[in-house]
Amino acid sequence: MRFVLDVLLGREARQRGYVLRTLLAAFSYLLGVLIAEVALSIGVADLRPTRVFQWAALTAGLISYAMVRWGWTRHFRDPALTVAQMLTGQTMAVVAYMLMHEFRGALIALSVAVTSFGTFSLSRDRQWAMSLYALLTMGSGMLWMSVRDPVNFPPPVEAVHFLILLILQIMAALLGAQFGEMRRRLRARKRELEGALDRIQELANRDSLTGLYNRRYAQELIDHHVHLKDRNHRPLAMALIDLDHFKRVNDEHGHAMGDRVLQAFAQQARQVTRDADIVARWGGEEFLIVMPETSAEGAALLLDRLREALATVCVSEDVPTLRILFSAGIAEHGPGESSDQTLHRADLALYQAKSAGRHRSVLATV
Ligand code: GH3
Ligand code: MG
Ligand code: MG
Repeated sequence: MRFVLDVLLGREARQRGYVLRTLLAAFSYLLGVLIAEVALSIGVADLRPTRVFQWAALTAGLISYAMVRWGWTRHFRDPALTVAQMLTGQTMAVVAYMLMHEFRGALIALSVAVTSFGTFSLSRDRQWAMSLYALLTMGSGMLWMSVRDPVNFPPPVEAVHFLILLILQIMAALLGAQFGEMRRRLRARKRELEGALDRIQELANRDSLTGLYNRRYAQELIDHHVHLKDRNHRPLAMALIDLDHFKRVNDEHGHAMGDRVLQAFAQQARQVTRDADIVARWGGEEFLIVMPETSAEGAALLLDRLREALATVCVSEDVPTLRILFSAGIAEHGPGESSDQTLHRADLALYQAKSAGRHRSVLATV
């Protein structure tokens, strides 16, 4: 059973949906062919035009199935050929109606079935356009036959037929429009939720004061880079940074000024680093910069640039003398080392930088 379905519908889930719909349409063509056959057998349809109709219906069904099943329509805007199928089905229903004298009532149902087909995928406007197309073509067919062959197509009967078709088509279009609107709303809601999820994720990874990555997310990124480095053997440097005498800023100028210093530092750190570098707030006034493809010496140069940049920053007009100074410990990730081990060496180097008088970088020993 599964094998048969795989052959009939294909394996890919999305594609299967399209093929299933096409099969449904092909099935309604087949129904038309069968109705025509019965009509022929009891002599209420003319042989030649009915045969032409039957072949046309079978060919249309087969071609559309083949096109969708083997993925030739995959890059179309409408891969299930919904609109093309509906127009074909509708036109065939009209032709069949004109061919089959007493039997034609059944074709009204088929015409409505074709319109309902759009419920799956058409927009509200298209759904209405399809109903209108059905009414216009079928209505013209009825009018034409009642003028040309009033014995087999008596005008009062055609009028009643048209009225029935009108009511059913309006109902089908209304239902279809409602489904279309529901689909549209669902899609919009899905997009909203996806956007919200992205924002939540972003917030969860960032420190709210500085906008830098937080420690938890930075740890994830570091592990990823260490893993990469194990394979490509390119250097990977980490610098632990601690602001010098930061407590004084808080004590002398207030906590709010301390916050502004942290923000100013974060901004400069972002500016001097590359996109591939990771800049994170590691703790209160501690920061971490991870530099892929960079040696310890390269990292020291970058920190010098950061010091120069910070020297020009004025955090507050009220305290023009306030300067942001920092000490840093730099460690290059060694072969077979865990990220924790590298960070530990960087931490020791930072401690040395502080002991040696602050406002400097120290390279960690291997
Ligand atoms: P050192 O040069 O030895 O690093 O001296 P320090 O004063 O910077 O070191 P210490 O660790 O004693 O002080 C850090 C201070 O940072 C203490 C804490 O109140 C402050 N701090 C931590 N987080 C924040 C924050 O988010 N905002 C502000 N304004 N201050 C913070
Ligand atoms: Mg500290
Ligand atoms: Mg400090």
